[in-house]
Amino acid sequence: KANRKMQEECTIIDVNGIKIGRGNFTIMSGPCSVESRDQILEVARSVKASGAQILRGGAYKPRTSPYAFQGMELEGLELLKEAKKETGMPIVTEIMSVDLVEKFAEEVDIIQVGARNMQNFDLLKALGKIDKPILLKRGLSATIEEWLMSAEYIMAGGNDKVILCERGIRTYEKYTRNTLDLSAVLAVKKLSHLPVIVDPSHATGKRWMVKKLAMAAAAVGADGLMIEVHNDPENALCDGAQSLRPEQFEDLVIDVKKILEVVGKKM
Ligand code: PEP
Ligand code: MN
Repeated sequence: KANRKMQEECTIIDVNGIKIGRGNFTIMSGPCSVESRDQILEVARSVKASGAQILRGGAYKPRTSPYAFQGMELEGLELLKEAKKETGMPIVTEIMSVDLVEKFAEEVDIIQVGARNMQNFDLLKALGKIDKPILLKRGLSATIEEWLMSAEYIMAGGNDKVILCERGIRTYEKYTRNTLDLSAVLAVKKLSHLPVIVDPSHATGKRWMVKKLAMAAAAVGADGLMIEVHNDPENALCDGAQSLRPEQFEDLVIDVKKILEVVGKKM
């Protein structure tokens, strides 16, 4: 179902009136994790003012260490809903358990499947049974074919609203957190009709690299971006080193728009 042979035309996914894919460019932005009411509201207001269309924020966090901050969970979800109510921005947040599929389907606008769960087939099957856009991140060391087959798991169940997200893959290189595979955007666009966005924050782990790679992603034809922004990155509970300050995000949007003029996409 994800195969370009099944559908020549690029898919458009409508999220509360915001169109993702086929000539549209969508920026999802916000903190790695929801940390407090003040934090999520402040970041939501600022990224909205800079042009982000969708608010991201983790409530359930898949951390490498069990002793690291695990997210505010249900309280975090409530705060995201509050930020949505105030700003009008749809929300995207990560799901980690099949148990929460029903709740997320009711309360979240885009359900994110993180890299670590890209091949959690039970979760993918459960998400295939609901009518809600799914943001499917590429697995830590998944091939393009494996990634597309995971999209297929969701679509096979009847949910065809899948947005792909390239977020870097694991290679031998340690300078960056992951290696951003921009060629995957071109490959996926050739192989599939699904929209694909790029997350240069998790791909690099380095704030100073994010803007240039966001511009490069726009240049190769990505349908959007996921960008981490924090109002106080030095004290962030998660991923501070890759989080842009609000004014840096504003600058990123201005420069990405210059590329969009060249590639003929609208934001
Ligand atoms: C995230 O977006 O917060 C995240 C954990 O990303 P990934 O699954 O790509 O590591
Ligand atoms: Mn993060």
